[in-house]
Amino acid sequence: MATSFVFNNREHKFLLKDWLDSEKIFNYDKYKGIYDMEDVDMLLDVALTIAEEVVAPTSDDCETHPMKLKDGNVPVPDSFRSAYKSLIENGWGPGDEQEEGALPQVVHSMCSEFLEAANYPLMQFVGLTNGAAGLIQSFGDEAAKDQYLPKMFSGEWAGTMCLTEPGGGSDVGDILSKAWPTDDKRVYKIKGTKCFISQGDHDLTENIVHLVLARVDGAAPGTKGISLFAVPKYWPEADGSVGESNDVITIAVEHKLGMNGSATAMLNFGDNDNCRGILLGSPPDENGVGQGMAQMFQMVNGARMGTGHTAMSISALAYHNAVQYAKERVQGRKFGLSKKTPRVPIIEHEDVRRMLMIQKATLEAMRALIYQTYYYFDVAKHSKDEADRNKAKRRIEVNTPLVKAYCSDKAWELTAEAIQVYGGYGYSEEYPVARCARDVKILSIWEGTNFIQSLDLVGRKWQLEKGAVFQDWLTDIEEFTANQKDSNGLSKEVDILNEALGAYKEMRNFIIKSMATKPQLMPLYSTRILHSTAMIYCGMLLMEQAFKAQEMAEKFDAGNAEHSFYTGKVETAKFYLRNIVPQVMMTRDVVLDGDTSAVDIPEEAF
Ligand SMILES: Cc1cc2nc3c(=O)[nH]c(=O)nc-3n(C[C@H](O)[C@H](O)[C@H](O)COP(=O)(O)OP(=O)(O)OC[C@H]3O[C@@H](n4cnc5c(N)ncnc54)[C@H](O)[C@@H]3O)c2cc1C
Repeated sequence: MATSFVFNNREHKFLLKDWLDSEKIFNYDKYKGIYDMEDVDMLLDVALTIAEEVVAPTSDDCETHPMKLKDGNVPVPDSFRSAYKSLIENGWGPGDEQEEGALPQVVHSMCSEFLEAANYPLMQFVGLTNGAAGLIQSFGDEAAKDQYLPKMFSGEWAGTMCLTEPGGGSDVGDILSKAWPTDDKRVYKIKGTKCFISQGDHDLTENIVHLVLARVDGAAPGTKGISLFAVPKYWPEADGSVGESNDVITIAVEHKLGMNGSATAMLNFGDNDNCRGILLGSPPDENGVGQGMAQMFQMVNGARMGTGHTAMSISALAYHNAVQYAKERVQGRKFGLSKKTPRVPIIEHEDVRRMLMIQKATLEAMRALIYQTYYYFDVAKHSKDEADRNKAKRRIEVNTPLVKAYCSDKAWELTAEAIQVYGGYGYSEEYPVARCARDVKILSIWEGTNFIQSLDLVGRKWQLEKGAVFQDWLTDIEEFTANQKDSNGLSKEVDILNEALGAYKEMRNFIIKSMATKPQLMPLYSTRILHSTAMIYCGMLLMEQAFKAQEMAEKFDAGNAEHSFYTGKVETAKFYLRNIVPQVMMTRDVVLDGDTSAVDIPEEAF
């Protein structure tokens, strides 16, 4: 079994110290006097150590003791208990980000990258609990906050999000779960079945608080009529202790491709007419319109960012392992040299370098996109400058579907590429990359499939404020390319970015115009357009980083590890611009051709 936590945080130090204006974040009132630039190395190093020493040792247990339903219980692997306790004691368990001492989001999410790479199913308890508690914090009444938040933020109780039902997956508006008012206006009776609920049952914590979407009896059909309820597994007593069972029954735990340390549960609520939930916010209005979907979107939007972030974390683990393996595995001789020359480590072969470079460049593109966006979260929350806050919010709107879908689609490709680097050993469970690929696949499916993300981008984000939000976003790239007069040896890369931007605008105009005459072109091409959107943005971010890295490289002698790191950043940006971004031009050609063969083909021909 493969316990192999190979990772490093050199790139993260570059991102916080050389690229992003982190000083600005540390100077916000919320962080001033608590954290500063001097702390960056220490924070990243400590988190990496915790990932290595506390979280990674639990990883194998997910495979040897996968979570299953046994006699009505779903036990977690034994190692989870002490590791979770240790995470909580070290400040990496669930917690209230509004509290003093919480890290800036951009720093916190970098530290979480190491922890998630070390064992995502364990870290899922933290993310889900924070998301569920955040909903109660935002929309619950004071009594709900008093009763649930201390228990959840301390890690004593866990949380889940319950949207999906057997007949209501992508289209949540079709859910059948229902709620009926009781004599207590806060409390509703709940009945329904939810499926695929992550960590939907377990014995890691003494209680689990399910955040459940259901329709109040008589409310409007579709997403409009949905409300949100906090439904505990055990109904709490007034003194905060865990009381009687709340009639939430686990009827199955899925047998899955991966994520074996995560119980994906099917839950029945109210089989015995004895399940109660606390309504968050107000009951449906006189038109039967509930607040549930809008409220749940707070957690879903956070989870979409989190999903892309996890995809990147797991791909990074696969990449670091593949690099280590490629340096150790000796096979074959250098291309074109005689058979008498010595055998070499496979990292010396051109095609292995191509595979590693695809991983490195795409991984760094994903990191740039994700951490730039988390940086905007800090600005949006804490800047005193209204224009600055607004700009950050607008960038978050556009970037969120890119983070979710580009990163999770690419993660599947990158983990496959990592397996290929290993050859046959990669396909075996003896090494960790096979598990990385199995675990990462779900990320393109949950939190709204990646097609839904592409519709969000093309169908909604393109039109926000009559297109002004997206135009502003494009202006960042336009201004960046226009300002690179002296491109310091990278003029070809700037030209490619410029050309890709032009190609992107052409296909966008084409799709917008075709909406009136050929509306099916939009959903037919939206996934590919989302990838192109991410590529032009990531291209800009990696170029920014390359210019910075060029400056930094000059401070070190060739051969020095720091010099290699910085020149590595420049070569990586070159590779991304020259080998990956030109896909945007190809997509433009395909979109403008407007081929509809995929929809024209008779269904029987499939
Ligand atoms: C391991 C795991 C964990 C999960 N955790 C949770 C959880 O914690 N909470 C929760 O609520 N849910 C959870 N889910 C459920 C997950 O969010 C859903 O599986 C996902 O939303 C897709 O729904 P579905 O499976 O019903 O697929 P469908 O909705 O049936 O989709 C099937 C395919 O059809 C496509 N499709 C559907 N509708 C359209 C359309 N109108 N136009 C074009 N294409 C369309 C989809 O993109 C997809 O490719 C989890 C699922 C898994 C497997």
